[in-house]
Amino acid sequence: MIELLKKHFGYESFRPLQEEVIGHCISGKDSLVLMPTGGGKSLCFQIPALYFPGLTVVISPLVALMKDQVDALNANGIPAAFLNSTLSPVEISRVEGLVRAGKIKLLYLAPERFAMPGVRSFLHELTISLFAVDEAHCISEWGHDFRPDYRNLYLLRQYFPGVPIMALTATANERVRDDIVNQLKLGEGRVFRSSFNRPNLTYRVQPKKRAFDQLLAELKQRPDQSAIIYCFSRKSTEKVAADLCANGVKAAAYHAGLTPNQRTQAQERFIRDQVPVIAATIAFGMGIDKPDVRLVVHMDLPKSVEGYYQETGRAGRDGLPSDCLLFFSLGDRIKHEYFIREMEDLDARERTRSQLQEMVKYGELRTCRRAFLLRYFAETWKESNCGSCDVCVPRAPLKPVEETVTEFDQELFAELRASRKQLAEARRVPPYMIFGDKTLQEMARKYPQNTRDLEEVFGVGKGKLTQFGESFLNVICSYAAKNGIQKDRTSSVIAPKAAVSARALTKTVMETVQQLARKETLEHIAEKRHIGIGTVIQHLELALEHGQLLDTSHIVFSSDDRLARIAEAFRKTGNDFLAPARNRLDSSYSYEELRLARFLLKSGSKKQV
Ligand code: ADP
Ligand code: ZN
Repeated sequence: MIELLKKHFGYESFRPLQEEVIGHCISGKDSLVLMPTGGGKSLCFQIPALYFPGLTVVISPLVALMKDQVDALNANGIPAAFLNSTLSPVEISRVEGLVRAGKIKLLYLAPERFAMPGVRSFLHELTISLFAVDEAHCISEWGHDFRPDYRNLYLLRQYFPGVPIMALTATANERVRDDIVNQLKLGEGRVFRSSFNRPNLTYRVQPKKRAFDQLLAELKQRPDQSAIIYCFSRKSTEKVAADLCANGVKAAAYHAGLTPNQRTQAQERFIRDQVPVIAATIAFGMGIDKPDVRLVVHMDLPKSVEGYYQETGRAGRDGLPSDCLLFFSLGDRIKHEYFIREMEDLDARERTRSQLQEMVKYGELRTCRRAFLLRYFAETWKESNCGSCDVCVPRAPLKPVEETVTEFDQELFAELRASRKQLAEARRVPPYMIFGDKTLQEMARKYPQNTRDLEEVFGVGKGKLTQFGESFLNVICSYAAKNGIQKDRTSSVIAPKAAVSARALTKTVMETVQQLARKETLEHIAEKRHIGIGTVIQHLELALEHGQLLDTSHIVFSSDDRLARIAEAFRKTGNDFLAPARNRLDSSYSYEELRLARFLLKSGSKKQV
């Protein structure tokens, strides 16, 4: 299975639960898979589909999503197709022909097709190995997105008694879960529920004061990154979008009051990276699979925690660090209460009111926000500090966590993104379908310059290598030639600081190196060059990493004893990252001190310690 994963998707390992689900499925049993958005549900049936000899039929509720999923599979070189109402009769018989000839591994179908007698007899001609029911909560009236056509799916068991069914959803609600099991008659089924924690998301709440200015500052820190700004009313989506544009941030509005054409256009421009920011009502999001949304902002108080979790869940599906920010004001509650009072159904009124109450609690929380969210979904969270919410990390800098975790050559990354966009436009697919950001970032860190090295990069499978490999290698090779980069920098343990292009790095780093060679002290160099000591050390670390020999004999460290303790901390953590080593030491040790020690140890001048 892991080979299929590597070969077709270019991934190294399975995410939590994927392997268990796949193993269960290929033994021919039913399953219900509950995973949060971005958890990696699709692979749970895509890998078995590649493994099984017959066809896998995927039921999916949204026409737009179906096409996306099929395009994404095709980009990976996997033969997939869909049948829905957007196809002409000619196209339908073409797809049916391919399926009959055994040329398709995954066939996506809209649920209403199951009630059609022609479709039923067509499916009966085939060898079907698996039915996957995606967005399975649509079957339940208790879910937030009930689709009457999903009720037809009880026919699956009746028509195809021997074929295993896998149902998948990101809804954790128990009532919905029971409904799915009953409706689909999942027999010897097992329920697989992964944690609903989204470790790469940070949660912040800020008082709703001068919210627009705060928003603008957030967006200016993330030029070109995708963000969704949720607003309460249609009018405010338009105002936010217009104000952002007036302030130099490209943004579009999206709400149910636009014509279908306008809506599709706004959505497409967002998905295709033509406009990075979308200001929307909650009508926006269903059916958007964009994996690289880096920020989700709520300008106004959402009406339930469930909704809030769903909406913030659209951030960071690709697993890269992303932020969720809520502007909170008790005044917003009054707006909601006005609507609640208008509700005629008393039960519904009470339910809505208590949901709102929970959301207000979230806004006013003095304990971990992540723990609150997970408890809301009946999950326990034992850690006392999640490390990525504003309660656990007070005074967190208003910076995406993007910046401390992954380090890569930003200039090359920008070039790779530009060429990805061109390729995507030529093929009329969203850029993320060519390669995800994580893949481009890894390229901008490892500088692969031949097919063999490129194959090793995250997200580069066989299919994509054949289709896109050459284009990206061209970009990397010419960039590397221009900047005199020969080999991959990952072999080195020191990660280069982000935002320094290789060329700029060389010039500015060499300047620092020359001053050191003149036996200047670090303080002196920092002062002369108007940079911080931390930066000076970073330059020198980079130079070391590039094989420069540095004479540091004139640099003094506060005490040999402290240096020895730091060296020991690095040894014990088994790597040379600052934070884990610092955690092993008492609070008198600063990052600056650790950084200096690390540099001196690496330079070799203090090896004996
Ligand atoms: P979901 O349907 O649960 O929201 P997806 O199936 O769309 O999630 O997966 C989210 C993202 O994670 C996709 O970009 C997918 O390619 C990626 N992904 C899934 N499984 C893995 C894995 N084992 N390793 C790396 N990336 C993965
Ligand atoms: Zn927390």
